[in-house]
Amino acid sequence: MNKVNVLGVNFDNFSLDQFKNKLVTRVDRRMSTFVITANPEIVMLAQKDKAFMKIINTKADLVTADGIGIVLAGRMQKTPIKERVTGYDLFVWLLSLANLRNLKVYLIGAKPEVINAVKKKIDIQYPNIKLVGCEDGYFKDSLNNVATRIEEKKPDIVFAAIGFPRQEQLLTILREKDLPAIMMGVGGSFDVFSG
Ligand code: UDP
Repeated sequence: MNKVNVLGVNFDNFSLDQFKNKLVTRVDRRMSTFVITANPEIVMLAQKDKAFMKIINTKADLVTADGIGIVLAGRMQKTPIKERVTGYDLFVWLLSLANLRNLKVYLIGAKPEVINAVKKKIDIQYPNIKLVGCEDGYFKDSLNNVATRIEEKKPDIVFAAIGFPRQEQLLTILREKDLPAIMMGVGGSFDVFSG
């Protein structure tokens, strides 16, 4: 059994390399894949927000432990987690994979100036990526409308940085549509990447 439960959240107990291998396989097979990199804030919110806990435990295909505290908690309860796997590391690694494979990527989230800076950096550093969507995270539309807009662009990878739990709610809609893409909430990663 490769799941480890910490504070109610079921984490996949894989190393960074194992997560990467799984993502390569899933992207090559165009398997609909919802990834949550659960940091301590996400785990704490899930304690109070049962709907969010349900998304993590029943909708996500892969859940990583994005915090050393989670790794230590697993060790203390004698169910060790292999290692911390951060959203930012997976985000940057997936960009390299997308560049290698000429993949279509959809970005949604952060402030307009931040998403513009992210686009510029990707265009220069990852020239083979086809950015099929690039929009800020301060939209007025419903999440259902946003999901439809994303689906129409047929992306291979979707990164949503609109804060949790909204990014996970959006990706749940896409996962339920079986969008054949890797879908990951990346929190503040666009801000970090653009800076
Ligand atoms: N964000 C957004 N739309 C919103 C709220 C937040 O695009 O309505 C973006 C924000 O600009 C930042 C990212 O979501 O780039 C993460 O925001 P925050 O740090 O507030 O959330 P957390 O990291 O706690 O998920």
